[in-house]
Amino acid sequence: MKHQSKQLKNTLNKTLEKFFSEGKTRFYLSEFASEAKTSIHEAENFIIPLLKEDELEGKLEVRCPNCGKDIEIYRRFIDIPDEIECEICGYRFHKSLEYIEIILEMKRKFFRTRRHLRSRSNRTNYK
Ligand SMILES: [Zn+2]
Repeated sequence: MKHQSKQLKNTLNKTLEKFFSEGKTRFYLSEFASEAKTSIHEAENFIIPLLKEDELEGKLEVRCPNCGKDIEIYRRFIDIPDEIECEICGYRFHKSLEYIEIILEMKRKFFRTRRHLRSRSNRTNYK
């Protein structure tokens, strides 16, 4: 197995912490990768251990390949029906990784272990 460079890991970690300090606790994997200026694949390699650690939770969002509407969110790939119909445009399609966006959500453990970051970087705007 190929290991990620320290520098890349650092960048990814900083990006995650930036999201956290901005209160962005739910985000797309693609969004995360583009913010960190890396590939989805590298972002995934970084995220997978955090899923295992239970710091993050992953969900799958099915998007209509025709109109782009987000149709439904599933926990596991196996839960997604084989055939999907878009309620907006009526387009029918078969499930495929191509039409799935991965959503990541920070979990309680993430907040517990990284709470200190928020008080440091988010000085104002408390209601
Ligand atoms: Zn549609």
